[in-house]
Amino acid sequence: MISKIKKIAVLTSGGDAPGMNAAIRSVVRTCAFYNIECIGVYRGYQGMIDADFKEMNARSVNNIINKGGTILKTARSEEFRTVEGRKKAYDNLIKNGIDSFVVIGGDGSFTGALVFNKEFNFPVIGIPGTIDNDIFGTNYTLGYDTALNTVVDVIDKIRDTASSHNRLFFVEVMGRDVGYIALNAGVGAGAEEILIPEEDLGIDRMLESLKKSRKSGKTSSIVVVAEGDKTGRNVFELADYVEQNLPNYEVRVSVLGHMQRGGSPSCFDRVLASRMGVKAVETLMEGKSNFMAGIKDNKICLTPLDLAVKGKTKINQELIRVSDIMTT
Ligand code: ATP
Repeated sequence: MISKIKKIAVLTSGGDAPGMNAAIRSVVRTCAFYNIECIGVYRGYQGMIDADFKEMNARSVNNIINKGGTILKTARSEEFRTVEGRKKAYDNLIKNGIDSFVVIGGDGSFTGALVFNKEFNFPVIGIPGTIDNDIFGTNYTLGYDTALNTVVDVIDKIRDTASSHNRLFFVEVMGRDVGYIALNAGVGAGAEEILIPEEDLGIDRMLESLKKSRKSGKTSSIVVVAEGDKTGRNVFELADYVEQNLPNYEVRVSVLGHMQRGGSPSCFDRVLASRMGVKAVETLMEGKSNFMAGIKDNKICLTPLDLAVKGKTKINQELIRVSDIMTT
């Protein structure tokens, strides 16, 4: 493939997610395969502003496919939100002979890339890296599958103690705006109730359901709550409410927090990252810009970045139905 692209920068931006290293590795190795120079940018867009660059070759990314986090570090850069900040970043890229970049991050990082492209007509491609799976145009974002497995693993452990003590556990998982982790991990871990931002069936329905399961002989229960659930109560308030209304329940709360972002990526995330990285570099080589490399129906595909940012993902109604049936 003959390409005008000679030097590609790669960066990770926003929240970290397992699989980001595998994506960096893929971008670097694809560049090496096509004899394109590759530059790693440290600390997201802030590293562009500070010219925190490092030349990468195929050997710079040895033994990172299995590592969580990101070797390039990540950051949220307020300076990049300013015209002056972005101008500094542009000057640094030009000074270093960089003619395009691949950003691995969430919708905020994609918005930054779009703004930058509009101002400087600089070729950019996005790879979706966020555990929330909230990006339009891809069935999966990097890190989501790993996070699901982490959450299921922890809920299995919580269930051991819940059933030994006949307790009811409220487990809060990540998901401010979307309930993918809660719904999928909840079904996967056999939760009795799952509360997600997309659906508010009311707190009293949950009470009824818990009463019913006690009557039917269940002695312990797990309720999975997404951070952004719409009951209007946080997970501790929910637990208090249930304890007040169902006095024979002993209730405990577990907030999983940042552990959901960590850990070695699953095989699924590693393979996905490898595929997206190749697609991102080849797309730049074809002279295209402003796309996100995603996956739909197990095919790697491109979605315009602005659509990836603006489009709304939809929760799987069939899975909600399955969850309802499973809690009978
Ligand atoms: P996560 O899903 O984990 O939150 P994200 O990529 O959405 O990841 P953000 O903090 O929203 O994370 O965005 C990352 C960075 O992208 C910001 O710190 C900022 O530097 C840049 N960015 C976001 N929005 C804009 C914008 N409108 N203009 C310029 N830069 C932006």
